[in-house]
Amino acid sequence: MDLDLGPEHELIRDTVRAFAQERVAPVAAELDREHRFPYELVAEAAELGLMGIPIPEEYGGAGGDTLSYAVAIEELARVDSSVAITVAAHTSLGTMPIFLFGSEEQKRQWLPALASGKRLAAFGLTEPDAGSDAGATRTRAELRDGQWVIDGSKIFITNAGTEITACVTITARTGEDEVSNLIVPNGTPGYEISPPMDKLGWRASDTRELSFQGCAVPEANLLGERGRGFRQFLEILDGGRISVAAMGVGLAQGAYDLARSYALERHQFGKPIASFQAIQFQLADMAVEIEAGRALVYKAAWLKDQDRDFRLEAAMAKLYTGELSHRVVNTALQIHGGYGFMEESPIARFYRDQKILEIGEGTNEVQRMVIARDLGLP
Ligand SMILES: Cc1cc2nc3c(=O)[nH]c(=O)nc-3n(C[C@H](O)[C@H](O)[C@H](O)COP(=O)(O)OP(=O)(O)OC[C@H]3O[C@@H](n4cnc5c(N)ncnc54)[C@H](O)[C@@H]3O)c2cc1C
Repeated sequence: MDLDLGPEHELIRDTVRAFAQERVAPVAAELDREHRFPYELVAEAAELGLMGIPIPEEYGGAGGDTLSYAVAIEELARVDSSVAITVAAHTSLGTMPIFLFGSEEQKRQWLPALASGKRLAAFGLTEPDAGSDAGATRTRAELRDGQWVIDGSKIFITNAGTEITACVTITARTGEDEVSNLIVPNGTPGYEISPPMDKLGWRASDTRELSFQGCAVPEANLLGERGRGFRQFLEILDGGRISVAAMGVGLAQGAYDLARSYALERHQFGKPIASFQAIQFQLADMAVEIEAGRALVYKAAWLKDQDRDFRLEAAMAKLYTGELSHRVVNTALQIHGGYGFMEESPIARFYRDQKILEIGEGTNEVQRMVIARDLGLP
């Protein structure tokens, strides 16, 4: 058993850490305040090969493993969650379905631009009436004269409406008890994208409502086998959970870093508040939980890299890091006192960005359902 990161993992960690500190940190607050999508940072991340880390080089990706990808997402979220989710959703939700289930032709058509980060992709599963119960999808696609004609809507879809978004993969009902995945290119007539949604956090990330009315795409845009959509999206979510869990660890680490430096600088009663045991215990508890959360994330990533079943560990990592980041960011803000409640203080942004980690890619309750099922409970 070797718990050290290998040299290639250390290299990616150091590269992304430098990128996050030197390029993302100086603009994160401004992007958040202005709800502005980070086009320049996406282009720079693409240059560094960060927009397709686990996609093989032959398709334009970096050919890295899941652990490299998780380490990269953790480092981004340590500084800014909007940039981290932009990269994570593009990779795990936008690009991965095409890589995992696409025909060779589809892969050649879409992956080089996506995995190199020139274009972005999205995954549209959630609907106004189908969230946790994602199988209740109502969007329909009917095969007519060699085309899938799509009618329905999706909600809260990340990366769907940027200027560089190439496509969205959506789940649609293609028969009575049949769900399939279809690739819908942006710009297809009948496919409308709402203005960006106004969010509590992740404000520099792109989140949209999608509407399909008589939207026709070629029959060849079916992804994988017809009727396999349900299984496919479960698999996508399992993998995506590792990256959202990495975001939980990264956000918690970033919140801890802020709290620790603030506690050392802030003086009350004639000494740094870090010298009070109450504050020390809070920081100590945070450090313990972050370490435990990181171990869960790395284990889930490692299992996936060994081609072993990782579903249970991914759900555990996602649940634990969602809840630990909640506790950590709450305590970190507490340590900042009133200054933490001011928008000018970075911890306020971390606090707003945290909550969605307990909702997206399956809520805490859904993770517990997945874990309980895996434990063989009836
Ligand atoms: C910023 C953002 C980005 C997102 N990006 C994407 C994306 O790119 N693609 C995409 O497809 N989706 C995306 N989503 C959607 C996200 O995955 C859903 O919001 C999430 O799955 C929960 O669905 P819901 O919001 O409909 O809540 P609901 O399913 O309505 O849940 C409401 C509450 O009921 C609980 N609940 C539901 N069923 C049960 C049950 N059986 N037992 C116990 N409790 C239950 C839930 O845990 C939750 O607390 C995004 C959401 C947000 C907010």
